[in-house]
Amino acid sequence: MRSEREQALAKTTLALMAECDVPPVPENYELFYAYAAGENPSVARVIGDMLVTRRPFTPAILQELRDRSSSRERAERAMGAIGANVTTQIDEVIAKLEAASKGAEDYGHTLSAARGELGGAHSPDELRKLVSNMISATKEMETKTHTLERELHASSQQVTDLKTQLESVRKESLTDPLTGIANRKAFDNELNAAINEARTNTQKLSLFMCDIDKFKLFNDTWGHQTGDQVLRLVANCLSENVKGRDTVARFGGEEFAVIVRHASVASAVVVAEQIRAHVQSKKLVKKSTGDVLGSVTISIGVAELTPGEVAASLIQRADACLYRAKHAGRNCVIGDNDPRFSELDIDAA
Ligand code: GH3
Ligand code: MG
Ligand code: MG
Repeated sequence: MRSEREQALAKTTLALMAECDVPPVPENYELFYAYAAGENPSVARVIGDMLVTRRPFTPAILQELRDRSSSRERAERAMGAIGANVTTQIDEVIAKLEAASKGAEDYGHTLSAARGELGGAHSPDELRKLVSNMISATKEMETKTHTLERELHASSQQVTDLKTQLESVRKESLTDPLTGIANRKAFDNELNAAINEARTNTQKLSLFMCDIDKFKLFNDTWGHQTGDQVLRLVANCLSENVKGRDTVARFGGEEFAVIVRHASVASAVVVAEQIRAHVQSKKLVKKSTGDVLGSVTISIGVAELTPGEVAASLIQRADACLYRAKHAGRNCVIGDNDPRFSELDIDAA
């Protein structure tokens, strides 16, 4: 018997699908059920947007949503499978080592028994028998050792393969699938590490928050898929303009964050300004139709780490600068050293 919540969710899902004219096939049901249950934030956000703007769920959009959803499931399944494999491998190695230690113990007993027997008087026949027993016990031990060596070698190869798989799943779990840059989780890790490093070495550290201007309008005009291309373009512009040790991440939706190591707000603003101009200079053309879409712009807020400051506060200050950049007319950069930062009197509601 299904729970009341599940039944209500199933009803909502079917009603939504009917309302949006989505073909009632299982793959689509799964997507809309996840949306109704609030299970997959990246898919839910796109569906939510589509519903609000009343745009049609074309087969291409449904396909893209299924791709998004399956990449997340793939990563989760792969993690589970690798976890199970690692456990099996470890159990097998332990069992082999235990068997080997038992074999060595038996061999030890045979040797010490022989040693005891050697103390007494022996006929040549008895001695021959004793030596022959020792030889066969030694041979047996040798065979066991070889088998164990071979088996441990194979196990270590499997463990190495698992480590490689684990590394690629770990990378996938830290990468934003749409743009290929670091995702929010990777950003949080990197920012904490960068703050610790800056504190330990008394170095400067700055953070930008970038947001695409009027992106909702862009999506509404040109469609979500073209919007996704713009997200990739902005991610590329960011990556192309920062140094290798800096981190470019998708912070969420159409917001990006850049950690600029060893940089004061003044020098980070220079980089941010370069990126802003680079994005604006790109002329967008829709490949499928040749439509000229003009260009997109971004606004950027930059803050420098203050002594004793934690990640959340630095993010919040960079975000406050971004908020002011939006209010200053968009397509601009505002740092926490900018007079416009304090001049503008805005309720941060
Ligand atoms: P502002 O200049 O004030 O930032 O205006 P805006 O329209 O960019 O801001 P708003 O927060 O109103 O809208 C953000 C839009 O970003 C809404 C949503 O459609 C879009 N968006 C968020 N994530 C994605 C995504 O993954 N793909 C696409 N195509 N659009 C996205
Ligand atoms: Mg935004
Ligand atoms: Mg925006």
